[in-house]
Amino acid sequence: MRYGVAALPGLRPIRNLYAPHHTFRFGPLTSGPYTQAMSPGSNVGVGCVLALCAAMAAHAQTPATSLEKTQQTQQFLDQRLSVWRERLKLLDWRISVAMTPRSDLAPKTLGGIRWDKPKKTAVIWVLDPSDYRLPFPAMLEDMELTIVHELLHLELASLPRSQASRGSEERAVNGIAEALLGLDRKKQ
Ligand SMILES: [Zn+2]
Repeated sequence: MRYGVAALPGLRPIRNLYAPHHTFRFGPLTSGPYTQAMSPGSNVGVGCVLALCAAMAAHAQTPATSLEKTQQTQQFLDQRLSVWRERLKLLDWRISVAMTPRSDLAPKTLGGIRWDKPKKTAVIWVLDPSDYRLPFPAMLEDMELTIVHELLHLELASLPRSQASRGSEERAVNGIAEALLGLDRKKQ
């Protein structure tokens, strides 16, 4: 089975679970500029039918139990994935998002993605809520950034890649993801 850039020589997996077709979002596990600059506001998000929406993340109350936290988080992730998949014109891809313990992510990463080009399927991993050290609303915002970041890697999947281009791609993806989310949150 071939995924993404797996066929390119010279790329070594960081961990077995995350083979070379993965890209990772690197960042601090506690806080970052993207989680501090958010301003709350009313929600005007596209297709936002669930109780927990992007703008509402800013007001989200910390759920009482870890089960509730997991459920609300998954609901939020699915909803935001749907919005960004549409915005980024990735509707021909079947994409899911899964919460993943830190031990299953590459060191110092907050997420990753694996795709199968022929099948047009992809799985995005975001750090599990139990491994986050942020307040609930900030955690959701950070997870959304992971989703956008990984979707941008998917957008670039058809470009030639090499070990040397990874750093440049990472910087570009970071910048674009933060710009997109900044615009999105300013609108709300
Ligand atoms: Zn990345």
